[in-house]
Amino acid sequence: MQIDLSGKRALVTASTGGIGLAIAIGLARAGAHVTLNGRSEDSVQRGLEAVREHVPDAGLDGIAADLSDAAGARAIMKACAEVDILVNNAGIYGPKPFFEVDDELWESYLQTNVMSGVRLSRAYLQGMMARGWGRIVFISSESALNIPPDMLHYGVTKTAQLSLARGLAKLARHSGVTVNSVLPGPTASDGFVAMLKEQAEKEGKSIEQAGIDFVRSARPSSIIGRPASVEEVANMVVYACSEQASATSGAALRVDGGVVDTIA
Ligand code: NAD
Repeated sequence: MQIDLSGKRALVTASTGGIGLAIAIGLARAGAHVTLNGRSEDSVQRGLEAVREHVPDAGLDGIAADLSDAAGARAIMKACAEVDILVNNAGIYGPKPFFEVDDELWESYLQTNVMSGVRLSRAYLQGMMARGWGRIVFISSESALNIPPDMLHYGVTKTAQLSLARGLAKLARHSGVTVNSVLPGPTASDGFVAMLKEQAEKEGKSIEQAGIDFVRSARPSSIIGRPASVEEVANMVVYACSEQASATSGAALRVDGGVVDTIA
């Protein structure tokens, strides 16, 4: 299968590192023009350079905007009038006991993880439908289904994304536009590695080993028994954005290494 996205314009939110950067590289490799997004000009420049290292002739631009509020989404819409592919990747995560999560933190999770995707889908979906082609992908999580009690505030936002993606897919019915969610399991992104770093140093082990140990103890249902790489997640996203994935819409596509212990 040859995925060819030349002529398509893609926007990947929070794509200066982690899973988002790998998705940006994958889409650029498939020929799409990719708009990167990060919170600062510096991180956007570094992201652009990172994509160019892998895909020297990539069609690229970047927007510095913080998607934790409406102003950030507006800045993106102003700089980028229409897109054919929207990947809602921006998301924050981290453990915190439920009884210590105040309204302000709940609000910031809801704004960054859910409302950023609401705002951008509202801005771009109708144009995609009018043009008869489009792809929207929400980067949710296995935590949408296996709600982690130590990250309840995160799990709730990831389940909300599934609901949003499914509903938007129905809104876009018969239009040539697909909307899907991708559910990564533990993935060795920058954020995930940062989360493990302190523990790895304390126990004198490598990050790789700390990742394996984390998955096997904290996510024991994992079938692969290790974190996925960011590229493994990006491959699924690039497929979901491809012409070839035209019969897949309203789906929750797992790249969770088998963590969610159900068949369907
Ligand atoms: P990461 O922390 O490694 O990278 C996130 C990138 O987003 C960084 O470059 C950061 O600068 C940028 N960013 C953060 N907040 C932003 C904001 N408000 N506006 C714009 N940019 C912002 O993250 P990741 O692990 O690659 O996660 C990406 C997505 O994948 C998230 O939605 C996350 O919930 C989901 N996910 C991750 C894992 C995992 O194990 N890493 C598992 C399941 C789902």
